[in-house]
Amino acid sequence: MTAKRGESLLWGISASSGIAEGKAYVLNRKKTKFAKRLLPRHLVDAEVARAKDAIERSKADLMRLKGSLAHDEIHEHIYILDAHLMILEDPMLLDSVVEIIQGQCKNAEWAFSTAFENYKRMFDSVNNEYLRERKSDFDYLLGWILSHLSGSMDEVLSDLKEKVIIVSHYLSPADTAQIDREKVIGFVTDIGGKTSHMAILARALKIPAVVGAEKATSEIAPGDTLIIDGMEGLVYINPSRETIKRYRERRARFGNLEKALLRDRDVPAETLDGRRIVLTANIEMVEEANSVLEYGAEGIGLYRTEFLCLKQGKIPTEEEHFQVYKSVLEKLAPRPVTIRTFDFGSDKSPIINHLGLEPNPALGLRSIRYCLKEVDVFKAQLRGILRASPYGKARILFPMISGPAELDRTKAIYEEVKEELRVKGEPFDPHVEIGIMIEVPSAALLTDVLAKEVDFLSIGTNDLIQYCLAIDRLNKAVAYLYEPLHPSILRLLRHVVEAGRRAGVEVGICGEVASDPKYVFVFLGLGLDHLSMVSYMIPWIKRIARMSRYQEARELVEALLQSSRCETNEAILSQWIKERFPDDFQRDVLRAAV
Ligand code: PEP
Ligand code: MG
Repeated sequence: MTAKRGESLLWGISASSGIAEGKAYVLNRKKTKFAKRLLPRHLVDAEVARAKDAIERSKADLMRLKGSLAHDEIHEHIYILDAHLMILEDPMLLDSVVEIIQGQCKNAEWAFSTAFENYKRMFDSVNNEYLRERKSDFDYLLGWILSHLSGSMDEVLSDLKEKVIIVSHYLSPADTAQIDREKVIGFVTDIGGKTSHMAILARALKIPAVVGAEKATSEIAPGDTLIIDGMEGLVYINPSRETIKRYRERRARFGNLEKALLRDRDVPAETLDGRRIVLTANIEMVEEANSVLEYGAEGIGLYRTEFLCLKQGKIPTEEEHFQVYKSVLEKLAPRPVTIRTFDFGSDKSPIINHLGLEPNPALGLRSIRYCLKEVDVFKAQLRGILRASPYGKARILFPMISGPAELDRTKAIYEEVKEELRVKGEPFDPHVEIGIMIEVPSAALLTDVLAKEVDFLSIGTNDLIQYCLAIDRLNKAVAYLYEPLHPSILRLLRHVVEAGRRAGVEVGICGEVASDPKYVFVFLGLGLDHLSMVSYMIPWIKRIARMSRYQEARELVEALLQSSRCETNEAILSQWIKERFPDDFQRDVLRAAV
């Protein structure tokens, strides 16, 4: 037996929160090796039969798996297995494999690998994380087919004997679907992003997961002790005693705290001096709507519908829009569901081809601008939302509005859609509230004008900070400039909140900073009515609001607005928190949540 190496650390992407400690179970899901052989002509027909047989067996496996999904939570993810089946059933696949075997006399393994590489190449030019993820579906299917060709099937995850953390190059949805939840306590993968199916399933199953850790399978040996920190995206390999102690304490604290906080999930987010703030969830996938109420969300404050297209690989039809929104509205009723119309562009430019080609996509024909150009696409979505509106409390949010002319045009189209539905006799809720994202500096400066035209405002700090400070939010090299406490941002936020209040409309924030514990005080003090965030942070943010005083938060904001530098603001905020929250419990809530 070799001696264990000392502690080392891998950074990945946090895909599912929580902390797990356990032994690594390294799965051999790397690219399956196979021999490339040229066949004598007389063996070609037999090779074609072998290829067909491998497809049939793989299809049978998938069908069997579909019928025996291990967990109720993931039944709705059957579509992933259906997508795999569709690929296997696609005549193009068999045709191209047969053509390669017959035309080039390559063995079946080689032919499948070439055919899948061709499929994958079609996704290469896609400037979109979710669709790029779909390339791993082909790797997975190739691995499966190759196992059938070689007769050596992968290990089966349902046969695990002890509790383990699975480490793999990637995990297929079928892998995830089979796992024994009692035994698998965490996942680490080399590749994948937040929107990979595996990440979505890990969140649905509440299993901590770190994806995209790049070197996980080469750095981690079977049996290594691991600690994975699903909140920070960290993987400790053979952690030191101190690290183990620190994380055990943190996990115990985090677990107990979370339980305690979840008991309060139905109490309002209200400060000690009676200021109420509404806390809602951001969702990207319909499936996420199931769990938001467990965290005490008062509704959905941002439903990023462009992810619908990423999932389907096409723009949904009106009927598809209707069905999806109806199901989310029914789940949440009577709580509000804020459905944001398509916000394609920048990192979310899936199937809209021109977007990937624009020299400056963040400033290009994106979001509402795209919808105002492709009016049919926009109208189909609006019809879908309105038709679903009788099934709950729908609100419509328009992204990237930059000024009054754009808002006028948007509202005119919305009115046309309502009129068309009236003429057709389609029922809809005539009182659906409409709002706009404030995420372009020009809109922020014109809040007084725009607020008169809508029912609510939702500040998109992700983009507002990007556009105001001129920093690409996707560019790691300038990430250090992304400062929510920048004096210009604070002034802009103050301006928006006050103009919104004067117009009598609700003002909220739905950018990522809304879930950062330390900024809660600033947002309270600025007078925001509503914060919308990733759902698992709601209990923490609620507790922080409940241990704060609105009056003090207002004084904090006054002090911050006097300063002209970010560093000073950070220092003022840290000191303010230290002075006000001396007790361990409060500090834990502020720290453990981060
Ligand atoms: C934002 O810009 O802050 C926002 C919430 O929208 P998105 O992150 O989808 O651009
Ligand atoms: Mg935005």
